[in-house]
Amino acid sequence: MSQTDFSSLTLNPALVENLSTLGYTSMTPIQEQSLPLILQGKDVIAQGQTGSGKTAAFGLGLLEKLNVKRFRIQSLVLCPTRELADQVAKEIRKLGRSIHNIKVLTLCGGMPFGPQVGSLEHGAHIIVGTPGRIEDHLGKGTLRLDDVNLLVLDEADRMLEMGFQSQLDNIIDRISMDRQTLMFSATFPNQIKAIAKRIMKQPVTVQVESTHDNSTIQQHLFKADDDLHRLTVLRLLLQQYQPESAVVFCNTKVETQKVADELSYFGFSVMALHGDLEQRDRDQTLVRFVNKSISILVATDVAARGLDIESLDAVINFQIAREIEVHVHRIGRTGRAGNKGIALTIITDKEKFKLAKLEDFLQTSIDPEPIPSINLLDKPTYQPSMVTLQIDGGKKQKLRPGDILGALTGKDGITGKQVGKIQLFPNKAYVAVNREVAQYALRKLTDGKLKGRAFRAREI
Ligand code: AMP
Repeated sequence: MSQTDFSSLTLNPALVENLSTLGYTSMTPIQEQSLPLILQGKDVIAQGQTGSGKTAAFGLGLLEKLNVKRFRIQSLVLCPTRELADQVAKEIRKLGRSIHNIKVLTLCGGMPFGPQVGSLEHGAHIIVGTPGRIEDHLGKGTLRLDDVNLLVLDEADRMLEMGFQSQLDNIIDRISMDRQTLMFSATFPNQIKAIAKRIMKQPVTVQVESTHDNSTIQQHLFKADDDLHRLTVLRLLLQQYQPESAVVFCNTKVETQKVADELSYFGFSVMALHGDLEQRDRDQTLVRFVNKSISILVATDVAARGLDIESLDAVINFQIAREIEVHVHRIGRTGRAGNKGIALTIITDKEKFKLAKLEDFLQTSIDPEPIPSINLLDKPTYQPSMVTLQIDGGKKQKLRPGDILGALTGKDGITGKQVGKIQLFPNKAYVAVNREVAQYALRKLTDGKLKGRAFRAREI
């Protein structure tokens, strides 16, 4: 019996036997690391992406803990989207099929409310759902979570990204403190750490991949003839690598604006971020960059300091930073959470001494690479796949992410996959949608299906 064999665990033999019929012969790394802890009743934070086998990790944990004879809701799994919730419920049913009469119920937004109430009246052991709809049921008294002893937050980072923080808080407040809490997340921004601290008891962190490893960041150096040529090299690099999210670092505010203006002139999807921006413009710039409807942010180091963006595909140094530590810090912003990131740096002969310092600091030599073919400039500039829709209503109008997602994905709507990040401000809301369905999505938002009201909305 090997370490990765499910039978090495203290699992109900019926569950183990079923696993072999499913073809799960050995544990995936995330299961191997988290399942023993989960079965011991510990709170666990696990870094796991879809495809890692994370659903079975928590699914087996909750099935093992379940008392089927007690027909009460004992586990709650919160997911960011209906698709994920459906997938999770399906996997749990599959994993639990050797135990009779387990009732798994999904409660998601974008689905009619009434039938869900009916199903809840019939009772369930396990609820899988999205935060907005679960909160609605709690508010209406159609769902009680008094007997829940296991709470799972699946894709916690995505739920926060979609703006579900207050829903999560409200839901978790209604669950007994005497519970086990499991959190799965692909990334660990500070917001996640703060939540974990608040809602978990001495959690054990399980990491399958290292979150940040310098070796995943490839550094590339390109030599420009002079400052004028620098911009051409930047355009070529952007066209060559086509990063979905890239920050171009400049050393001054003036340069930041100039580079952003030039890139914009040539048709790139770009905005500038520097200290002279009004708060409102800064917010909107970040909304659009984070939801991937703007591909390139040109920023000063100071302006980018508070930026908590986890998945930058590329960091581009328009010049090497004045201080080497700053430069290394810039580079560290890409390639997080085990993602492959690239760091591109443009230099001229004037910066030779800075390069020497950098090489010394990193203890490697970095040789310039050939500049991409000039022919790339003849091609149309690449464009982001998402666009941002701005809704003239926000938290003060009691709009919630679930309402927006519901209006978009309800009857004849677009699919959850076509919806990106949803961000709510006091009087405005922003939602990213796939470019191809933007106009259709806009109609869905304005035709009165959003909280039964006609909100004004437009593409920005
Ligand atoms: P997930 O990351 O939970 O979305 O799971 C990814 C896929 O891996 C799902 O299709 C599972 O059915 C499958 N899977 C999970 N655990 C195992 C395992 N131990 N052996 C083989 N397949 C698995």
